[in-house]
Amino acid sequence: MAVPKRKISKARRDKRRNSHWKLDLPGMSKCPKCGEMKLAHRMCKACGYYNGREVVAVKEA
Ligand SMILES: [Zn+2]
Repeated sequence: MAVPKRKISKARRDKRRNSHWKLDLPGMSKCPKCGEMKLAHRMCKACGYYNGREVVAVKEA
């Protein structure tokens, strides 16, 4: 990193600055109960379950 500025190409500099802060996907995983995609470490939006129990009652459509 401590290298003269002109020795680092624009591509290399910009890659370092901009490539690794963004994930392609937010942490998503499948709900073990209903199989919907849900956010990791959050209760399932579709069935209201987290960690094997119902946390929030979900209204059936
Ligand atoms: Zn679910």
